[in-house]
Amino acid sequence: MKESYLGVDVSPLSYTGIIEDLRKRIAGGQQSTIIAVNPEKVMAAQRDPQVKELINASTYQIADGVGILLAAKLKGGNITSRVTGVDMMATLLKFAEEDGHPVYFYGAKEEVVTKAIANIQATHPNIRVAGYTNGYETDEAALVSRIHQSGAKILFVALGSPKQELWIRRNLQKLPNVQVFQGVGGSFDVFSGTVKRAPAAFRKLGLEWLYRLGSSPSRIKRQMNLPVFLMKVMRSR
Ligand code: UDP
Repeated sequence: MKESYLGVDVSPLSYTGIIEDLRKRIAGGQQSTIIAVNPEKVMAAQRDPQVKELINASTYQIADGVGILLAAKLKGGNITSRVTGVDMMATLLKFAEEDGHPVYFYGAKEEVVTKAIANIQATHPNIRVAGYTNGYETDEAALVSRIHQSGAKILFVALGSPKQELWIRRNLQKLPNVQVFQGVGGSFDVFSGTVKRAPAAFRKLGLEWLYRLGSSPSRIKRQMNLPVFLMKVMRSR
């Protein structure tokens, strides 16, 4: 059962739960979309009903932030562990390698996406890379046709939010052979080694945001969404 925070749905499934469910959906020929939900996006959804609709129309809304867990705690919800965008992508890569699904990588700078793929191929020797395109390509029709012809079954879109989600919504039906779409934000930057993830200790304590704030203080504006979000959740029914 999905939970809802300020009108935004969140899926309670774990990484393995999502993969199991995906297997069934793929077998049934259903396309699936994965979107990461965090307080910043929930707040954006309050300002823009289109964003809310976009999130709720996804197949899996993953709890990509400690903020959602805190909200679940406040409201007696069942979501007790995070499903981060970058770890979901790692899980899908393993699944793609095991089940032989070709993967397409779209987004980030040219040197970032190529380095990310090189690193992924080094750790997943049997992965089938259908192709890639950097995130600054402007001819969308040509890109969509290229992805279609590549035979990709899984597509990662790394353009940041909500750009990547809007892209997926615009092109989902034009890519009937792509079974799984994930908007992955800055994940190619992480796989390429360009951006370092927070040390394990920070991640365990749910303090990734603090680490990210330390390494890029301008994030404070984005992070102010967290206390505002929690206040609103507390006041909501
Ligand atoms: N990006 C892109 N095309 C654009 C704008 C952004 O490919 O037109 C890429 C950018 O290079 C970066 C990612 O999108 O790799 C944005 O990451 P960010 O951390 O901002 O996303 P978030 O995870 O915070 O949504």
